[in-house]
Amino acid sequence: MTRPLLMLDVDGPLAPYVGSPYRRPEGYLTHRVPVRSWRERQHAAGIRNPRPLRVWLHPDHGPALLALRYELVWATTWKDEANEHLAPLLGLPELPYVDWPSMHHDDPDGLHWKTRHLVAHAAGRPFAWVDDEIEPRDTAWIAAHHPAPALTLTVDHRCGLRPADFALLADWAEVNGS
Ligand SMILES: [Mg+2]
Repeated sequence: MTRPLLMLDVDGPLAPYVGSPYRRPEGYLTHRVPVRSWRERQHAAGIRNPRPLRVWLHPDHGPALLALRYELVWATTWKDEANEHLAPLLGLPELPYVDWPSMHHDDPDGLHWKTRHLVAHAAGRPFAWVDDEIEPRDTAWIAAHHPAPALTLTVDHRCGLRPADFALLADWAEVNGS
C-alpha cells in the first residue's frame, strides 16, 4: 500500500496568523517557541533578548492528520525545527521534511518558490500540498509537470485548516491512494 504524500506548510495552515495579535482563532492554544531562525532574525534586527516566537496551534490537528491515509511531510521554512518544536505540541511523531535547496527565490514563471521543489520531492508519487500561498498558476504548473495526481489546497492563513479541509483531504486520499 502506497499512500499519497501530504506536503504540509506550517505558517497559515497549522499556525494561523492575523493582523492583530489578539484575535486567536477558536480552538487554538498559544505557545511560545524558541525557534533558532526567528532568534537569528531578531538579533540581526538589533533586538537583543527577543521573546520566543508566539505560535497558535490546534491540539486536534495532530491526531486529525495522523488519521488521514497519507505519508506526512513537512513542507515549510521551519524544516527540521518543525520536528523539534511543533510536532510534540501537535502530538505528531518526527516526520520527514523537505530540505529546500533554496527558499524565497523568484521564479521565472512566477511560481511559488516551493512549487518546483515539491514536484521534484514527490518524484512521481501522488501528493497533496496544503499551503496558504498557492496560486492557480502553481496548480496549473503542477498539473502539467507532475505525472501523478496532485491536490493543491489553499488555506486561509487567518483560520488555518478547517474540518472541511480534512474532509477533502480524506476523500482525495480515498480516490488517489493505492
Ligand atoms: Mg504559509
